[in-house]
Amino acid sequence: MRLFRWLRWIWRLALLTLLVAIIAWLAQDSGSLEIRWRGWQLQTTALMGMGFVVAVAILTVLMDRLRRWLVGWPARRRDRRHTRRLEKGLNALSEGMLAMASGDTRQAQKLAGKASRFVKKEPLAMLLSAQSAEMGGDSATAQTLYHRMLDLPETRVPALRALLQQVAKNPDPTVGLAVARQAFALEPTINWVQEGLLVWLGLNHHWDDADQILQKMITDRHLTRAEGQRWRAVVLLQQAQQVPSTQQDARERLVAQAYRLAPSYRPVAIAYLGQLTAQAAQSGSRSGQSESRQTKTLLHKWWAIQPCKELLDLHEQLAPSEPFAHLRAAEALAAKKPLHPLSYLAVAQAALACKLWGKARQQLQAIVDLEPLPDAFRLMAALEKSEHGSKEAAYKWMDKASKTAEPAAWVCASCHHQAAEWTAICSSCHAVASLDLAGGEVDGGKDLEDEALASLPAVL
Ligand SMILES: [Zn+2]
Repeated sequence: MRLFRWLRWIWRLALLTLLVAIIAWLAQDSGSLEIRWRGWQLQTTALMGMGFVVAVAILTVLMDRLRRWLVGWPARRRDRRHTRRLEKGLNALSEGMLAMASGDTRQAQKLAGKASRFVKKEPLAMLLSAQSAEMGGDSATAQTLYHRMLDLPETRVPALRALLQQVAKNPDPTVGLAVARQAFALEPTINWVQEGLLVWLGLNHHWDDADQILQKMITDRHLTRAEGQRWRAVVLLQQAQQVPSTQQDARERLVAQAYRLAPSYRPVAIAYLGQLTAQAAQSGSRSGQSESRQTKTLLHKWWAIQPCKELLDLHEQLAPSEPFAHLRAAEALAAKKPLHPLSYLAVAQAALACKLWGKARQQLQAIVDLEPLPDAFRLMAALEKSEHGSKEAAYKWMDKASKTAEPAAWVCASCHHQAAEWTAICSSCHAVASLDLAGGEVDGGKDLEDEALASLPAVL
C-alpha cells in the first residue's frame, strides 16, 4: 500500500513537471492569434487563446456538475428524509422491544405505533405491534395484525406460531382446530405446526386423523424414536376407545399394539392390563386360569413399582369372589408394596368383607395416619356401621370423606398440572403423552417390558 502511495505521488509530480515544461515551452514563443468575423476583430497571443479554450472547457464541466447537483437535490433530500425516518423507526423498534422485554406493554405499544409510522413494511415493526397489543390484552387487534402478517412470507411463520399460541387459551377446541388446519395448509413441514394439528385433532377426538399426522411427524423425523413410540401408543389407545363395543377384536388389537410400542408407559400398561383382566374374567376354562395367573403376575409387578387406584380396581376384578380367598389375594398384592396407603386399602376392604373388624380397623388406621384418603374414610364409616352399628360415627367419617379432596392421580411431566383422569393430551399445556401417575417413580423396568411383550398374543 505504501509503495502504491509513493508511486502515485511520483506520477503526480511527473505530470506537474510536464505541465510546467509545456507552459514554459509555450511561453518562449507566445505566438499570435487573430479572429475576424463580420467586421469584428480580436487579436491576442496564441497562448492566451489556448488559455481561453481551456478555461471555457473547465467552466463547461463545472456548469454541468452544478446542473447535476441541482437536478439531484430533491432526490437527495428525499433520501436523507428516508434515512432519518428509518433511523427513527429502528430506534423506536429497538426501544419497543426492550420495553416489551421489561413487561412495559403500554410503552411497547406506543413505540410500536411510532415504529410502524416510520417503517411501515418492516416485519419486526408488525410483530412488535401485534405482540405488544396481545400483551396489553387487546387480542382482537393482535389477531388482526397476525392475520395481516400471514400475507408476507417473512412474517408468516412467526404469525402462525403466535396464532396457535393465542388459540390455546380458547376453550372451544373447534376454533383451535381451524387455526391448526390453516397453519398446516400454509406450512405443512414445520415441526410445531404438525404437533399443533395433532394436538387439536386429539382435543377434538379425531384420533384417526391425528394418527396420520403423527405418522408424518415420525417420517419427517420430528420425534425421537422413544417419543414416536410413546405418542403412537397413546393415539392407538384413544383410537381403541372409539372402536364400537361390537368390534371387540379390533379394539383389543389396537390396545395390544399400543402396549407393544410403549410397555413401560403406565397408562398404556394399565389399559393393556385392563384388557387382559377382562379377557381372563370372560374365559373360565383352564387356559383362562393360566391367563389370569399371567395377568396377576404382571399386575403385581406394576403394583410393586407404584400402586394406583386403577390397578386396585383391576385386582378386585381378578381376585376370587370367596371372601377369605379374596383377602389372601389382597394380602399377596399388599406384600408387593408394603406401607403404601393403597396396599392397606386393598387389605382393609377384603377384611371388611370377611367381617374381620379388628384387621380392617388396623389397616384403615394405618392409612389415616399416613394421609387423608376419602376411600379410607368411607371404609371407616362402613366399619363403624357394621361393627358397632354406630350411625353417628359413620356419619362423622362420611362427612370427613366428603370434605377431603381426592388425591390427584395423574400429573403432567411438562407443566405439573394435576388431573383426576388420564388424558393423552395435557389439558393445561397440550403436551402429548405427558401425564403419568402422581408421585410416581421412574418408568417400569426393562424386565417388565420383556415379560409383558412375551405375554402378547402372536396375531400382531
Ligand atoms: Zn401439561
